[in-house]
Amino acid sequence: MKLYNIKDHSETVSFAQAVKQGLGRGQGLFFPEHIPQFEDIDALLSMPLVERSTEILSALIGDELPKSQIHELVAQAFTFEAPLKSVTERIHALELFHGPTLAFKDFGGRFMAQSLAAVSDGNKITILTATSGDTGAAVAHAFYGIENINVVILYPKGKISPLQEKLFCTLGGNIHTVAVNGTFDDCQTMVKQAFDDKELRQTIGLNSANSINISRLMAQICYYFEALAQIPQYKRDQVVVAVPSGNFGNLTAGLIAKAMGLPIKRFIAATNANDTVPRYLASGQWQPQTTVATLSNAMDVSQPNNWPRIEELFRREGWALSELASGRADDAQTAESLTQLAEQDYLCEPHGAIAYRLLAQQLGEEEEGIFLCTAHPAKFKESVDAILHKDIPLPGPLAKHAQMDLLSSEQETDFSVLRAYLLNLSA
Ligand SMILES: *Cc1c(COP(=O)(O)O)cnc(C)c1O
Repeated sequence: MKLYNIKDHSETVSFAQAVKQGLGRGQGLFFPEHIPQFEDIDALLSMPLVERSTEILSALIGDELPKSQIHELVAQAFTFEAPLKSVTERIHALELFHGPTLAFKDFGGRFMAQSLAAVSDGNKITILTATSGDTGAAVAHAFYGIENINVVILYPKGKISPLQEKLFCTLGGNIHTVAVNGTFDDCQTMVKQAFDDKELRQTIGLNSANSINISRLMAQICYYFEALAQIPQYKRDQVVVAVPSGNFGNLTAGLIAKAMGLPIKRFIAATNANDTVPRYLASGQWQPQTTVATLSNAMDVSQPNNWPRIEELFRREGWALSELASGRADDAQTAESLTQLAEQDYLCEPHGAIAYRLLAQQLGEEEEGIFLCTAHPAKFKESVDAILHKDIPLPGPLAKHAQMDLLSSEQETDFSVLRAYLLNLSA
């Protein structure tokens, strides 16, 4: 597989390099030089998830990794299902939250972890990240138990929800969680100091495993195929998919799936009040505004970092941006749609509810609609309970971790202490 830097096409890298490096020169994103196309989509859709995903990812990765190894990575990463549940006759929810941290980011995170381990040639790697809650859990669970990779997660002590803390600070093994006496910004500053420290970086094989890594997108392509596999064949050319979007990685993956031959008719990019993209698609003006806090806080992004990949794909495929539908929902509208879904016996959470709303508004008479449900309702229990006047139960994995002991160590905000800690870990 060959990828180029969108900002500087002369910089090209292999899959292994792209996974290890994350970003190219000038913070440029990597993009595949060639997008393979499948001829017989129905044959592909008749395969089980792991076998089909192996085909898709092998076509992308090419001969850089043997197919048997790709199969192994996929089997390790995709250990849970992505069921399609019908809400109405023509509107279906693709549930992407059945992984260990109950969010769709488990797909990308787990495949990235497996890929990084596979291309690192047994060299020691230390993943260092700061979290204010969610990302920490996804990273911790994705890398848990992977050989030669240590994960260190910093978080502000007492400033994340007790349940969130339980979800990722109870694993042990190669997952090291540090409660810092400070703020989230203090944690991020120390992470930055570590990456600026060249000697430290090389000694412990520092890696950020961040959200921009191409391996995440590649994994996410696979569940769009899984979605269509669950739609009867005669309806497959009428499918419209609504994607709740923040950094637009999820939508990028869907569009790449379409470029690979998956017959998705069109996409709807759904945002909350942070609606830079819907406004841009309507006016042609890219005018990010100050980010505002909403019920769907994983989408509180006003400068989506994957957008350049979408523009690049449209340019490459000769598609017009006007073909991309979009829309926004504010908090009151989100709550309204969440309530409507509950009245139809479908328990959702704010992110999925926004995608449902735009889909229901924009679905044509002959079309079949899918909206992506990116998180388990219990992950947003506070808002869901308040809107629906309910007390929804904790699902198994969360309840299990809630019972376990915290294994975090504590540190003051002091880079020299963190530095010594990191060196000691990888010694
Ligand atoms: C990350 C996230 C999103 C947004 O996905 P992007 O790929 O950043 O657009 C939506 N919903 C939930 C629950 C998320 O965690």
